[in-house]
Amino acid sequence: MDTSLRERAPVKGRPPFRRAVVTGGCGFVGSHLCDLLLDSDVEVLCIDNLLTGTADNVVHRRPDDRFELMVHDVTDPISIPGEVGLVLHLASPASPQDYLRLPVQTLQTGSRGTFNALELAREKRARFVLASTSEVYGDPLQHPQRESYWGNVNPVGPRSVYDEAKRFAEAATTAYRSEHGVDTAIVRIFNTFGPRMRAADGRAVPTFIRQALAGEPLTVTGDGSQTRSLCYVDDTVRGILAVAAASHPGPVNLGNPAETTVLELAHLVRKLSGSAAPIEFVDRPVDDPGRRRPDITLAWEQFGWKPETDPRKGLSTTIQWFATQLNETAARER
Ligand code: NAD
Repeated sequence: MDTSLRERAPVKGRPPFRRAVVTGGCGFVGSHLCDLLLDSDVEVLCIDNLLTGTADNVVHRRPDDRFELMVHDVTDPISIPGEVGLVLHLASPASPQDYLRLPVQTLQTGSRGTFNALELAREKRARFVLASTSEVYGDPLQHPQRESYWGNVNPVGPRSVYDEAKRFAEAATTAYRSEHGVDTAIVRIFNTFGPRMRAADGRAVPTFIRQALAGEPLTVTGDGSQTRSLCYVDDTVRGILAVAAASHPGPVNLGNPAETTVLELAHLVRKLSGSAAPIEFVDRPVDDPGRRRPDITLAWEQFGWKPETDPRKGLSTTIQWFATQLNETAARER
């Protein structure tokens, strides 16, 4: 079913840790990270409260005794036996639909949850990697966005619960590094897409794919001239692991600098899925960023990382995955 995974090569050389904790490991990005770690011969303890993720995303790993799932809310202290060499902290609602419906929980996860994950790394003397986001740049006044840019975030706008939670998490990570000497890193992930996204999570790619496959109008917000830079998930997780295996503190941008307008994306999804569905223009959400494009010079120079998947191929694989899911659901309901 997940053919993209089987085609993915493990990272070159064995990563310098034997066992990793992945918070949010049942989510979209986290589950691909669990796969890449296991394929690279690293044991994985996945910690997730299944708030926005699902155990289905890791079910294919359950028979592997190097994989363990702990259902736990990271806003509660994390206590686990044994050695841990790496803590990858991804737990957080991440799609606008999720964090707008869970504003307080999003802030709690970004603050308390991050402190608890940092405490775990401190106790285990593990490398710690925070999954931050391009949203820390808000509606950017600099383009493309470099790591040195401080951002343009509305602290009382609806999206602030996510943006400010991540900005706080970055500050907490930095403080644990300076005050407690924890070996930390921050990655700022730009829009990522691929199999295991949820069809109804409100993000542009799954929304367009769901609509195209159902023959419904593809709803483009505003006039569709706002841009996104979309990175295929295999590239994103490879970048996260490259940063984890090094000693650089970041922040490091991880994303695809190929910029596309939302309208172009809608047309491309329509074409690749062979759909004749029309495009429909709807209102644009409040504080929706106008432009997004990562400057990935740092990731390239420090880690030799850049996206390698052709966006069209990534989109086709994702469309195929969604089509399979829809068929399986339909078959179950018959
Ligand atoms: P997701 O919603 O699919 O995954 C998040 C996971 O975290 C889910 O499995 C959820 O159940 C879990 N979780 C949430 N709160 C938790 C808590 N309190 N305790 C334990 N588990 C909890 O989202 P995603 O797209 O996979 O994003 C993963 C991470 O990457 C997030 O931190 C997100 O901010 C970051 N990120 C993602 C993108 C992207 O394009 N997908 C872009 C930038 C940053």
